[in-house]
Formats: sequence, structure tokens, C-alpha cells
Amino acid sequence: MTGRWRALLALTAVAALATFAIPGAAQRPARPARPAPRPAVAQRPVVPTPRSVLGFEPGDDRKLAEWPLLLRYYQALARASDRVDYRELGKTTLGAPFVALVISSPQNLRQLDQYRRLNARLADPRGFRTSREAQDALRDAKTIVLITSSIHSTEVGGHLSPVLLAHRLATDTSAATRAILDNVILWLVPSLNPDGVTIVTKWYNRTLGTPAEGSEPPELYHHYTGHDNNRDWYAFTQVETQLTVDSLHNVWHPQIVHDIHQMGPEGARLFLPPYLDPVEPNVDPLLVDGTNALGSAMAWELAGQGKTGISINSTYDAWTPARAYQHYHGGVRILSETASGQLASPIDIPFDRLETRARGYNPHERSWNFTNPWPGGRWTLRDIVAYQTDGAYALLVNAARYRERWLANFLAVERRAVRGWKDWPYAYVIPARPTSPQDSIALATLLGILQRGQVEVRTALQGFTLQGQRHPAGTYVVVLRQPYAAFAKTLLEVQRYPDRRLYPGGPPERPYDVTAHTLPLLLGVPVAAAPDSLRVPLSAPVAAPRATPGYPGFGPDMAPRVGLYRSYDATMDEGWTRWVFDTWKVPYVSLVDSVVRAGKLKEKFDVIVLPDQGPQELLEGLPARTYPAPYAGGIGPDGGEALRQFVIDGGTLVALNDASRFAVQALLLPVRNVLEAVPDEEFYAPGSIFRLELDTAHAVARGRPRETAAWFQGGPAFDVLDSSVVRVIGRWPSDPARVLLSGWVLHPERVAGKAALLEVQEGAGRVILFGFRPQYRGQSLVTYPLLFNSLHVRP
Ligand SMILES: [Zn+2]
Repeated sequence: MTGRWRALLALTAVAALATFAIPGAAQRPARPARPAPRPAVAQRPVVPTPRSVLGFEPGDDRKLAEWPLLLRYYQALARASDRVDYRELGKTTLGAPFVALVISSPQNLRQLDQYRRLNARLADPRGFRTSREAQDALRDAKTIVLITSSIHSTEVGGHLSPVLLAHRLATDTSAATRAILDNVILWLVPSLNPDGVTIVTKWYNRTLGTPAEGSEPPELYHHYTGHDNNRDWYAFTQVETQLTVDSLHNVWHPQIVHDIHQMGPEGARLFLPPYLDPVEPNVDPLLVDGTNALGSAMAWELAGQGKTGISINSTYDAWTPARAYQHYHGGVRILSETASGQLASPIDIPFDRLETRARGYNPHERSWNFTNPWPGGRWTLRDIVAYQTDGAYALLVNAARYRERWLANFLAVERRAVRGWKDWPYAYVIPARPTSPQDSIALATLLGILQRGQVEVRTALQGFTLQGQRHPAGTYVVVLRQPYAAFAKTLLEVQRYPDRRLYPGGPPERPYDVTAHTLPLLLGVPVAAAPDSLRVPLSAPVAAPRATPGYPGFGPDMAPRVGLYRSYDATMDEGWTRWVFDTWKVPYVSLVDSVVRAGKLKEKFDVIVLPDQGPQELLEGLPARTYPAPYAGGIGPDGGEALRQFVIDGGTLVALNDASRFAVQALLLPVRNVLEAVPDEEFYAPGSIFRLELDTAHAVARGRPRETAAWFQGGPAFDVLDSSVVRVIGRWPSDPARVLLSGWVLHPERVAGKAALLEVQEGAGRVILFGFRPQYRGQSLVTYPLLFNSLHVRP
């Protein structure tokens, strides 16, 4: 298989070279000045090959490029080609340029602003005065496609495929490419995480030829979020998300968004949509249809080229908006997941070593959604970039060929949103007068998210009554008859995740990600649904209020000395904790294994925080057979003993979620995790919002409401074995029917009445055990105070 497909590749390369040999500039008309960097002279330089800048052909074994070198290629390409413009949208978390290319015909690029305006009119059909105006816009507009790559930096084909795609579009003279350039305006983000491109490439090059070749770097590849960087598409916490939403999604309203990823090496060679059920119910049906049609069309095209091992309708569902901004903004999301190698190093997988059971198909057997199994063998970076590049090209062919259908459906989706869906509430009502600084920040966060999602928020111009409750003038109102009503509704309502089983009566079918995203619960902002028209005059859309995050008790003279454990077996929860501390101005020092093992921790710290991480990962860390010092080994028994001594000496150890299990074991605490080794059939809650009852007399819960919400995700739940040294600060409700607030839980009676947050006295110090994630993905503001207060508990 691979040989034949190499031959195809070789042919493509020859064609590209032939095109490239013709100097393109002479016969093209001069263009007016544009913001992108380009020479003032009429004569364009020859379009550079990737090799001429990178020094290798993208897809060559063991060859990656750091971000600055990739940028040099894109800049050279834009200077040389009148089909490509280069834009810097801003700076990344670590200060690198965050860029996009816009690719289309030279004529389209000259009138880019006109096409932007046309598309914006389709995105908000309230501006059309006559149906004729809408017809004219449909006739003249182009399909807007956004392709994003390499958000997950160890999926290294995604570093390089945009180079190949951009070069092909800049040089190819085929009728298919001309049709793409004429009918499509492509925004190509070559990396959604440029910092990670460099982090992974540096690590890879450093470890080439060592036992660590092909391993994951011993740090998060996004400074704060690691792999969770693609779970941020409604909370918008990270600068890369903000730049993409503000400069591309909200300006260009793409009909099609293609996100290039990689998955594990042992299943299909490529996943494309349709997604598995469940599809989140607020996604317009036409977008689901579009996703199904386009993913299937791409799979069909790639199969026609001889590619095997393509699975559709498998593995990935479409429940959470955290990965799918476009699903609520008129666009389809085409996720592609190509099988990985070991970073840029090739692998060999015999057919019989492929997974025996994947989600929705079997890699060893033909099925309707996996029509032609991959025979196994060598799998290289060249294969990966070919599947990715040819997949993206097939998507663009479809976007060009069906331009009218894509635009008409886009307009239909927005027309239905503006008209409003039967059975949806008329509006959501949000009280405007927070009673504490914490509540002000939460309200500003909620309204800021809605605003960034282009939801129109108005205020009531008079007081009104809803379900017996009086709301004064100034109350915020979100009417669900507007272009992005679905975004507001999915974030403001409670989720009821369907009870899905592997077979009737059997174990739960795991969702791909979490099951809840109800912002009013996560943020602690009361919101009410108004089923019918409020009959109250409303203002024009208003701007969200601003509030600066911050929490009392962390000023220069009063802040505790906080050590935050940072594993080389890097965890996203640690990164999110750093992000929350940095954002809320909580001072801390990161603690690595060698410091923990060295002991005498009480001399340096008042509090040590262990982010969510399993006992084994904490103790053992990365394997010494692969990783060099200082990365291998975890905190080890010495570190466990040092943490115990720290507590005995009067320190406070704060353990989050799974790390609580470590603390219980390492310090022999008199509590028992009732969920230890309980199988999914007997208890299951894969990321849900629970009701939490607090003892507000305890310093950790002081000032909080007696009932609140908390993010439960695979956490422990506790029985107390010795109440003389254990104080329960928070419990799950004793009535099982009251445990779940949003999402999914099976057998809540297993945790009903159990301790969720407690303090254990040990020597002169204490351990605070969290059975939930108080700072979940930078979203659960409602429980931040519990974490912040726990840093202040003193004997
Ligand atoms: Zn990925």
C-alpha cells in the first residue's frame, strides 16, 4: 500500500516542481498596498519550495522545524505569491507571533474587505431588507473556510502539513486549485499553539538518537493548558483562543472549520466525521448534515486516491461546545485525526498489533464506516502529512464545488436562529447587581463570555416580574432570537446527558470529553429562563461590565508561602492551577521533584498544593528507561516522607482530586475513599456538576453559600474513620436525587452524603482533601474561594 501511495506523492511533487519553475509575477497585475509585508517592486520573487527555506522536505523522517523557521517560510511564500497574504494576529502566551495566512485568487484578495462584508450580512440576516438582497449576497459571496492546525503540539504532522498545503495552493495550476482559489477564501492558521511547536521540536531534536527519541516533552506544550488548549472554545481563557475567535471566527464567520489533529497509532489511519452520538442538541440540524456530508466526501475522495484505514462515525462525539465554537456560529466542524508515529520518528505496526476494539469500528474488519482496513506495516511522518494535506485539499475542493449550498445553508441556519426555535425559552434573565467582589467578577466573566461569543445582551428598561420574582430595571436579558442564540442557550441551560450504555443494562458508554458546561453553575451566577415574552422594553445590546480578578489575603505582607507541585509527568490541572493563580494574583513557587525529595519543606513553605494527579504518577513520575535526569522518577518515597514531615512540622498540604488519594495513602490519613476500584457500572460521572453542601463555619468555606456547585470528575469521595482529627467541610447531598446539577451521573447513591472536602489534622499541620476540581479548566469560579481559603488555613 505504502509503495503505491509514495508513487502518487512523487507525481504530485513533480507537478509542483514544474509549476514552481515558471516565474509567476510577470503576467500578474500589480496590486494595491496591503497590510502584509511584501516588496514594493512589481517583480515577484520565485515562490520558494519548503526545502529551500526549511532545509528538508516536510514529511522527511526525523525532521521538524521550530516556529521561527516555519514563519520564515510563510513570510517568503507571501512575498512571492499573489495568492497568499500573511497576517500577524497578535502574540502567544510566551510572546511568539500568532499568525494566519489568507489564501485565495489574486482578484479575491484585492477585494477581501468586500467579501468580508458580504459574508457578515449572511451571518446576520436581520440586515437584509428584501429577499433580493439576500439572493444577491448568496450569488456574490465566497465560501469562507478556516483551517487550523497543530493545536496539540505532539501531533507533529500538523506543524508541517500547512506548509505543504499553502505551497500547493500557491503554485498549482490545475483546474481544481483554480476553482478553490476563485470560490473560497481560506484562512489558514498554521499553528493554534506556536509555543508548543518550538517546545516539542526542541525536545525532539535534543533527544534524537537517545532512548527518549519520540517521547513527549517533560513539560506542558501549552504553557498553561497543555492538551486542554482545545477545551477552551467557550471559556476563552487563553490568548490563543481569544485571538482566533476575535480576529477570525467573529470577523469572517467561516462556513467550514477544519481542525487538523492526530490520534493514537494503533487504530484507523484517519478519522473523519460524521461524529458519534450524542450531538449536543442546540447544534442546528443543517450543521450536522453539513458535517456528515463533508466528512464523508473527504473520506470518499481519499479512498479514491488509494488511501486505506479511514474510519468515519467513530471515536469522537459532538457533545461539548468546548471544542466546537463554530457549531454555535453557523459553521461545520471537520475534525481530522490521523494516526501518529513517535513524533517525527517512523513506527512499525503489524496488522495483528492493531487494536482489537476501537470505538465504533474494528481496525481488523471491514464495516460500513471502515471500508478498507489498513494492512499494517511502516507508518511515517510522510504518510501523516499526506493524509492531512490531501484531506484538507479534498475539503477545499468540496467548499469550492458546493459554494452555493454552503452559503445557502449558512443563511438558513442564521435565519432560523433569528426567528427562534419552538420549545426554546424566549430569553434568559441575569440579575445585574452582584453583592460581593467575587460575584462581580463572576458576572463580568459570564457576560464577557457571551459578548466574545457575539451574543447580544440587553437590559430591561423597566422592572418586571418573572415566575413570582421581581427584577428591577437594568436586569440583563438574553433574548434567544438572534444569530448566536444557540451559543447562549447551551451555556446557560442545564445539560441532561443521555444515559448511554455499551449494551442494554451494561456499563456506560464513555463520552469523548466531559458532560456539562452550565456556566451559571460553574461561575455561581443566578440565571432564570423566561419561557414567554417578558413584555418589557429592552435596551440596545450593552457591553459586558469589567472586573479585575483578585482575592483578598494575597497582598505582599499577608500572602502565605505557597509551593505548587509541578510534575515532569506534566498535568493539565497543574497548568490550569498556575493560570488561575497568575490571573487571580496568588503568589506561588513551582516545586519540582528534587526540591520535594530534599525535604525541610516547612522552612520554605506554609502551604504545598498537589494538583490533580494519580498516586502512581506522583510517586513514580516518568520512566527512567526513557527519560534522562532530572525528569525521571517522580517524588519517590523520599518525597512522600518529606511531605508527611512538612505537615507534621505545621505545614498545610492541599491535595486536589486524584492527588487526595495520594495524600491519604502517603500520610495514612484516617479517611476511606468509597470509590476506590469501583467499576463504571456501579458509579460513573465523567465530568459533571454536582451540588455541594458546605459547613460555612469552617475557614475554608467562610463567606460561601451553604449550597453551591462543584465540578466532579473521577474524584474520590470519603468516609471519615476518625472524627477526632477530621473535619468535613463539604458533602454531597444525602438524597441521591439531589446530587446531580448538570451532566450525567450513574448511581449517585454511591456518593450521597459522603465527604467531598475535608480537613485532617496531622501533627502540627493539616491536610485539605478536595474530592473535586475546584479550579476546573479555569471555569469553576464558584469554587475558587474554597481553594484560595485553603491556602490560608493556619493552626
Ligand atoms: Zn489533538
